[in-house]
Amino acid sequence: MSSPASPLAQPVTSLPGIGAFRARALAAAGIATLADLIHWYPRRYLDRSVIVPIAELGRHVGRTVTVVGEVSGAMLMRGRRARVVVTLRDARGTLDLIFFQGISYWQKAFTAGEVIAASGELAVYGSRPNIVHPDIDRLGHADTTPATATAAAPDPAREPDGLTLLNTGGIIPVYPSSAELEKAGLTRTHGFRRIVRAALERCLPVLADPLAATASSLTPESDPILRDCLALDLVSALRMMHRPATLDDVARARRRLAFDELFLLSLQMAYQRRRERSTAPGISFNPASPLARALVDTLPFALTAAQKRVVREITADMQHPEPMNRLLQGDVGSGKTVVALLAMLVAVDNGCQCALMVPTEILAEQHYRTLTRLVNDLAVNIRLLTGQQGAAQRADTAAGVAGGTVHILVGTHALIQKDVAFHRLGLVVIDEQHRFGVEQRAVLRGKGERPDVLVMTATPIPRTLAMTVYGDLDVSVIDQLPKGRRPVRTAVRFEEDRPTVWRALDEEVADGRQAYIVFPLVSESEKLDLRAATEEYENLAAGAFAHRRLALLHGQMSATEKDEVMQRFVRGEVDILVSTTVIEVGVDVPNASIMVIEHAERFGLAQLHQLRGRVGRGSHQSYCILMTEKRIFYSAPRATDDAAQAATDARKRLESMRDTTDGFRLAEIDLEIRGPGDMWGTMQSGFPELRAADLVRDADILRAARTLAFDIVERDAPLAEPAHALIRTELGPVIKQRMRMAGIA
Ligand code: ADP
Ligand code: MG
Repeated sequence: MSSPASPLAQPVTSLPGIGAFRARALAAAGIATLADLIHWYPRRYLDRSVIVPIAELGRHVGRTVTVVGEVSGAMLMRGRRARVVVTLRDARGTLDLIFFQGISYWQKAFTAGEVIAASGELAVYGSRPNIVHPDIDRLGHADTTPATATAAAPDPAREPDGLTLLNTGGIIPVYPSSAELEKAGLTRTHGFRRIVRAALERCLPVLADPLAATASSLTPESDPILRDCLALDLVSALRMMHRPATLDDVARARRRLAFDELFLLSLQMAYQRRRERSTAPGISFNPASPLARALVDTLPFALTAAQKRVVREITADMQHPEPMNRLLQGDVGSGKTVVALLAMLVAVDNGCQCALMVPTEILAEQHYRTLTRLVNDLAVNIRLLTGQQGAAQRADTAAGVAGGTVHILVGTHALIQKDVAFHRLGLVVIDEQHRFGVEQRAVLRGKGERPDVLVMTATPIPRTLAMTVYGDLDVSVIDQLPKGRRPVRTAVRFEEDRPTVWRALDEEVADGRQAYIVFPLVSESEKLDLRAATEEYENLAAGAFAHRRLALLHGQMSATEKDEVMQRFVRGEVDILVSTTVIEVGVDVPNASIMVIEHAERFGLAQLHQLRGRVGRGSHQSYCILMTEKRIFYSAPRATDDAAQAATDARKRLESMRDTTDGFRLAEIDLEIRGPGDMWGTMQSGFPELRAADLVRDADILRAARTLAFDIVERDAPLAEPAHALIRTELGPVIKQRMRMAGIA
């Protein structure tokens, strides 16, 4: 952003009241400069017009109200149904907040004197007003010295900080905060409001609106969404976002700020596409392939209509001289591998080599075996290359690749090493592409002369997100599972159900099926988790499943060990595979029909869906059992508290898994729970975080922003026109890098 002297680039410590301690807490939240601070948008707003003083609650029974007051105590009430009663008090009355669930949490959730806003449906019990399970916002602490904080009598003249705020502002912004930030005094309301206001005062006078020229060039014929979003200038939008007069202000400001975020993102995509498209013509393949035909004739199954359609889309691209850049999306088990193989055989028939890159050793081995088995006695030479192979073996493979005798090279990141050179690389296939960055894709592609590129993913992505994240790719979707597949039946179970769960698993094995038991492996506590998995494996092998053949698979084993275990499982020599998440992607053992996932609440939704995709791959009815704690599943308290929120989200994930097997639906839910920022962090690196934009809600804004961005790059890629000067100076480093990569500027 701008020059280093600009207030926008100044560190937060340049603000009064921010020393090293607060700066550290802010840095942990990703806030380093004043620019970061003015773009730290409120998460929600409290509208004073719906806040009711406790004394006036009588008129609102049965309605949803928000009440602000000071917590005066919390009490556990036994009786027919145990509950916690938190008493909230303002200058003229008291209100009970009642919690039946999360008793131990709510008992200790507040300190006396804490000011909170509680919203919910107002009821009356006896003569006391109450709200059962309200939504809570913590507003700070009563503004008193410790000595008087414990004094019982409310002083009507004394206004706690949160209340002062209420009496002055119309709409109160509630900022995202964290325990650490609150500890540093940066509370959701006044704490953040104070420093954001200071940052705005410094920044707004010098802030340039990069889209001002664009806005003033709009005519009544321009896109109405574009006109609507740009009708508000950036400075006003920021002011209104942080200090709105009405909730309507917030809505308008948010649309403008969302537009800016989506515009920058789209510019990035536009440059990336330009980089990938502006190359000279690539290979024009002849799609009539005897090898592909022979494969289709010998397949043990008929291709689904969806598979046939995407094969046509892919081969049409391959025939075209422009290099293919296509994303193949298909839910787990939809049969992407055979589609990729057909494309590769077309390339081989045209005298070209193919590279298939996958993220893990296990997957590389499996693809290698699958492909080798499928091409069977066709004259196609497939080789495997992984980092774990011995030097001699790798050198031998590399020689075959360089000499052109190897037709299809399957492997891990090892494929993009310097010592791998192809004779004539014509088609690059990348499986589970979300595990790789844009750069790795580019390196592999660079090993050929403008080869075609097909990337595959089983992480289904909602349309709007796909448009943003994969804006530079054409998309094919396999939206159909092979015939005879039955949806996996999923259940949530608790520790006390353990005997039944083990019985179900044992019955499957008795029927000749195989099973997975999966343990989470979270990086921070990898050792601990590994021990849990290992211990549990030993317990099971000696106890509940002593009569079955068990094996353990985890990420710390050598590739050879892992492969050996997987092979035994594939061959049916192992009944129950106890594993960490190393089996998450791609593993294909159709005879496996039951999976038990331990501590299921610790997994993300996409990961759970991937894991479950390991069963239900054959014709047998399959089962997935999500083991969790009753506490998490039933008593997640509703609140804005981080821990409570995490529990609520976990329950939502488990319920969604239980209720649907549709990967696209799950992806949408995931997007709702996590927010797009989080989600594509795991999908593709290098994307800016979205704070104002919501990809589910803002599809129309995305379309408008994208059209504008692609249009500008088409007409003036170096941003040399005066109207684009500010866009250029205000661009973030990511876009500048994209421009350089596209050979511009
Ligand atoms: P994914 O799309 O998850 O990578 P795979 O390519 O591994 O799926 O295919 C899953 C399983 O389905 C494999 O065992 C594969 O042989 C099988 N399969 C693929 N296409 C069909 C089809 N049209 N009919 C029946 N089985 C199929
Ligand atoms: Mg696959």
